[in-house]
Amino acid sequence: MLSITNLTHIYANGTRALDDVSLEIPRGMFGLLGPNGAGKSTLMRTIATLQSPSSGSIKFGELDVIKEPEMLRRTLGYLPQDFGVYPRVSAYDMLDHMAILKGISSGKERKDTVETLLNQVNLWNVRKKAIAGFSGGMRQRFGIAQALIGNPQLIIVDEPTAGLDPEERNRFLNLLAEIGENVVIILSTHIVEDVADLCPRMAVLAGGRIQLEGAPQDLIGSL
Ligand code: ADP
Ligand code: ADP
Repeated sequence: MLSITNLTHIYANGTRALDDVSLEIPRGMFGLLGPNGAGKSTLMRTIATLQSPSSGSIKFGELDVIKEPEMLRRTLGYLPQDFGVYPRVSAYDMLDHMAILKGISSGKERKDTVETLLNQVNLWNVRKKAIAGFSGGMRQRFGIAQALIGNPQLIIVDEPTAGLDPEERNRFLNLLAEIGENVVIILSTHIVEDVADLCPRMAVLAGGRIQLEGAPQDLIGSL
């Protein structure tokens, strides 16, 4: 369970991107819906410990995320909105390299990790191809594979379906739903359908404030 309490973020130029946000996020897929400029990325980056809030607290279970960011990072998988480095190395080699960076030093464990992830995201057949040549959907699935290295308990995906065709989108969202049964996954998006189809719980953020919170079937009518 992720607990966000009275979170406020004011940027240096005075923009109040988050204004007293409180949210309880249970295990499973949680949808954070909001228009562009709502504050979604600010909230996602703050949970991912990439920026500090002006005030407020975030707890993941017993862990104080703001006081002990390095502890959260050990159990965090983050797929940022602009995950955009598409190197000319193969998918296999890139994941292997990222597994080393995540501290998986045993060659056998790394091989198992990388092979399992490539199969899970359906990229096994193209594992030797350069990521630079992947389609949008393949890149997003690769992004999820790298976010899953080390079995994170908290996964954040920011605007993941932008630029995907309907088939790739469904494939990607179903993959998230499978993963999401046992961990906390936060899906941040401005697309109502992404949330309505898959998330048992959701919140609507606009102008830095939580406007609505509940089950999609109870809320969609009021959007
Ligand atoms: P912080 O409060 O986190 O220090 P700053 O206000 O100093 O952030 O801005 C950090 C960077 O983001 C700067 O390079 C700035 O130009 C850029 N930036 C400023 N306004 C916006 C905006 N509305 N959206 C995105 N980036 C912005
Ligand atoms: P969303 O992800 O929902 O589009 P953001 O968190 O990117 O929303 O932005 C929330 C608000 O904060 C917007 O008004 C945006 O222009 C502003 N903003 C984002 N980043 C910065 C920054 N670095 N400096 C100043 N303002 C920012």
